[in-house]
Amino acid sequence: MAVTLPQIVSDMAPFRDPHKLDSKIPVYTGPVRETPFVGTKVMLFRAEMKGKSAVSYLTYVQFNNVSFTDEKDATHKFPIDVEGKTKWWGPININDSTIRIYDSCPDFRFRFSKELYDVGALIGNWKRYTPVPGSTRGPVNPQERLGICKHTWSLLNLLKKQGKIVEK
Ligand SMILES: [Zn+2]
Repeated sequence: MAVTLPQIVSDMAPFRDPHKLDSKIPVYTGPVRETPFVGTKVMLFRAEMKGKSAVSYLTYVQFNNVSFTDEKDATHKFPIDVEGKTKWWGPININDSTIRIYDSCPDFRFRFSKELYDVGALIGNWKRYTPVPGSTRGPVNPQERLGICKHTWSLLNLLKKQGKIVEK
């Protein structure tokens, strides 16, 4: 099973309005790192995101079904070095490419990682919030919806702004 970004956002919408998430959280160190996996048709984006708090978080977004070519053309606009050779990729159509995500912040890990894991959209292992003994706090995602945190949302917005992901 696999899902696309629009499917995750639409599942999240009744629980959390994605457009109310902060979309301007800056990348903390250097540019977004892009790692291509030509053989498995995967493009991995990795960044350290930092908002107002002192803590920064690691955000990984992976798109599947990404094609790489030897020559530049209309659907392969961006160059990337693959073992010393230039390959071309993207923009990635988010309706055609399934997604996998990892984010190190507590909101993502405790609220959404299990749900994303269950549909094959999580990078790594899931964790669930364990309330302290005696706590009356309810479940953090009672309807078990798919979703993303503000760091992931902000990184995706940056990729969209750069024209690297598009929705067609
Ligand atoms: Zn986060």
